[in-house]
Amino acid sequence: MGPDLRAPLWPDSASRPLGHPIQPSVVYVAADPDAWDAQYEGRTQGQSYAREGHPNAQVLARRLDALEGATGGLVVGSGMAAVTAGVMGVVRAGDHVLGGTQLYGRSLRLLSEDLPRFGVETSTFDPTDAESLRAALKPTTRAVLVEVVSNPTLRVADMAAIAEVAQEVGCLLIVDNTFTTPRAVQAFALGADIVVHSITKMLAGHSDVTLGYVAARDPALRTRIESFAITLGLTASPFDCWLAERGLATFALRYDQAERNAARIADLLAETPGVTRVLYPGRADHPDRVRAAALLQGRFGTMVTFDVDGGREAANALARRPGMPPLAPTLGDVATTLSHPASSSHRALTPAARAALGISEGTFRMSVGIEDTGPLLDRLARAFGA
Ligand SMILES: *Cc1c(COP(=O)(O)O)cnc(C)c1O
Repeated sequence: MGPDLRAPLWPDSASRPLGHPIQPSVVYVAADPDAWDAQYEGRTQGQSYAREGHPNAQVLARRLDALEGATGGLVVGSGMAAVTAGVMGVVRAGDHVLGGTQLYGRSLRLLSEDLPRFGVETSTFDPTDAESLRAALKPTTRAVLVEVVSNPTLRVADMAAIAEVAQEVGCLLIVDNTFTTPRAVQAFALGADIVVHSITKMLAGHSDVTLGYVAARDPALRTRIESFAITLGLTASPFDCWLAERGLATFALRYDQAERNAARIADLLAETPGVTRVLYPGRADHPDRVRAAALLQGRFGTMVTFDVDGGREAANALARRPGMPPLAPTLGDVATTLSHPASSSHRALTPAARAALGISEGTFRMSVGIEDTGPLLDRLARAFGA
């Protein structure tokens, strides 16, 4: 007789592991068909098949629920999976969806290229201007998708007015809280119906997982989003969830340190010769400083955007300077990184469209890390002075 490849050998233990184990098993074993009935009918709790949910995704989702003040949020395979589930899970052909003009590039593509293929009409509005939202509304508007602070120009959305308009006309407010994180913004308290995150960024924090999170206030929407995500197979990897749970344990500490560093770097850059513009929502020269102060309550974030003169040539030279942070098109890493929107996140736009958003060849966005403040500032001061 051959070996039993699936004999249950996992050691029993009266004590439990302090850290959650990684559970990569795709499928689960029940004692008999009645036991499956009991589980599928909700009389017992359990797992069945990993695409429909697994313990590591559940653990991470409960942790994020606690941060967002949500119930029953869902962890999915990427931030874009979360955006897709949050938007496409709640609309149907004939609906109209509005998005902020400065949404994450792929979210804008979902609106401009994919939703229309399914008969969903889309358009954009300026989230810093509530009148622009009113003007863009249609009787069929079903959902409004916004980010509280935009990338890379760090414009601050008029959330109070947007939430008021959404409520007034009865459409869903979907907030992508990736940039601001629950440390700065409690999106449900601001009136969001659905909150999405790219966990990939600051929440996991180490640039080694790709994950997303979506939560809805209304249980009926929650069920629709979850069912749609399972059908699409937006499943998160157990290993990624496990890494993200570990990263999340230090999220608040990392956020606070990165934010302290960001404020100092913004002030340093503002005094650096050759830097022609600095954008940081906590600075007195930020275009949305009043709204930022009211909305963000001192949590001005971990991103700093700045411009240098001299076009692509100057941008190349700056990126190559010794001591400059690595030029890497993401954000939220433990280390300070630099992004150049014209060649990465915003390369699909024409120069004119970039200019309309306030992005030139000389625009850089720094995602500030958790390095010791003094040495980091010294290094940057030397790099910019060189
Ligand atoms: C990165 C990002 C996303 C997409 O997240 P992925 O995990 O890369 O799919 C969505 N929204 C915002 C604001 C982001 O920064």
